[in-house]
Amino acid sequence: MVKEGFNPFHMAQAQFDKVADLLELDEATRDFLRNPMREYTFTIPVRMDDGTMKVFRGFRVQHNDSRGPCKGGIRFHPQETIDTVRALSMWMTWKCAVVDIPLGGGKGGVICDPHNLSAHEQEQICRGWIRQLAKNIGPLSDVPAPDVMTNAQHMLWMLDEYEHIHGAKYPGFITGKPVGMGGSLGRTEATGYGVVYTLREALKQLNIKTADTVASVQGFGNVAQYAIRLYNQLGGKVICVACWDQSDQKSYSFRKLDGINVDSLLSITDRFGGIDKNKAREMGYEILDGGAWLEQDVDILIPAALEHQITEENVNKIGKRVKVIVEGANGPTTPEADKVIAARNIFVIPDFLANAGGVTCSYFEQVQCNMNYYWEKDEVLSKLDTKMTAAFLAVSELARKKKLYMRDAAYVISVGRVAQACKDRGWV
Ligand code: GLU
Repeated sequence: MVKEGFNPFHMAQAQFDKVADLLELDEATRDFLRNPMREYTFTIPVRMDDGTMKVFRGFRVQHNDSRGPCKGGIRFHPQETIDTVRALSMWMTWKCAVVDIPLGGGKGGVICDPHNLSAHEQEQICRGWIRQLAKNIGPLSDVPAPDVMTNAQHMLWMLDEYEHIHGAKYPGFITGKPVGMGGSLGRTEATGYGVVYTLREALKQLNIKTADTVASVQGFGNVAQYAIRLYNQLGGKVICVACWDQSDQKSYSFRKLDGINVDSLLSITDRFGGIDKNKAREMGYEILDGGAWLEQDVDILIPAALEHQITEENVNKIGKRVKVIVEGANGPTTPEADKVIAARNIFVIPDFLANAGGVTCSYFEQVQCNMNYYWEKDEVLSKLDTKMTAAFLAVSELARKKKLYMRDAAYVISVGRVAQACKDRGWV
């Protein structure tokens, strides 16, 4: 997903360097933390349904495991690159540290487009990915999870292959599994709900009633859908959602000024998350260009799609009324755009804090697997709320005390915790 001239790993390193200066980290610690500890790149040969062989490229990057086993999702995407995976693995390290769970950072990927693959072909890719890595990942070293275009079924195939190789049951090896097969209730909702738990706290601090706010969202995947649902329950109204169209695969903004409806939009969304724009038009949605979500007259922006979406080129198009940006996606805002947003005094809830609900629930899933006892959904969600709220309050308090931009405050907490763990272990 790297656009020309944009390298997400360089962006992650630039964000880190800024905080390393703030924390006055020594040279060895900087060198250690700005690079992953381990990287694996490999091939996955698959016999396709038509009998031909096709070779896919796979990755796993383990950025840091000083605070616990590496943790992070696996993405299936035609434009996946090692640098995207490196950046995301680093962000996972900071994400687990900011919510203070005993896990490190990792990320994986396969260059493929599931749109063009049968279920059987996808299963072969999942099993092949595990076969290549079975000795280098595990419940006590590196625990994968779903991410862009991977789901609970993919996780179950991967678990099955891992258990087959190791000859025993290891339900804590992977998270995001189906409920009833070692999965946790609430895991599907967790990332989107976590986004809104932090938003709720931010609005409280800004003395704004959620019910008086209007939002615009980029994305209509798992994160966006549950974020919109909970935000609606708290009284907020979403007037615009940006998503791709299922027939031409281009991005559009779907606007309805009296409020979009998740269920009716879902009824015209395909299994890959594309909306049918003709049906949306019939339902009364205005179809605007893909970038229009950013320019709406709203209080809140929720980028919940992919990285590199709010950039130098479009940051000045953010509507005058916007008070809060809550980042459901990983890496949606570039450092150049950050400068403009900070100067405008918009309250940003940075990605690795805002979207940490997914991995926090993954951690709860592991805990339940280890106990072999599963909590009710309300219990999971209430524990999730407690964790997310505590993390948000710690970051916002530091930002207020030290007059830091919210992203920098979150980084100071995370990088500080990880650097300390590395030092305490005698690594740097
Ligand atoms: N893929 C999610 C993320 O980026 C969740 C990772 C996990 O549960 O390990 O945070």
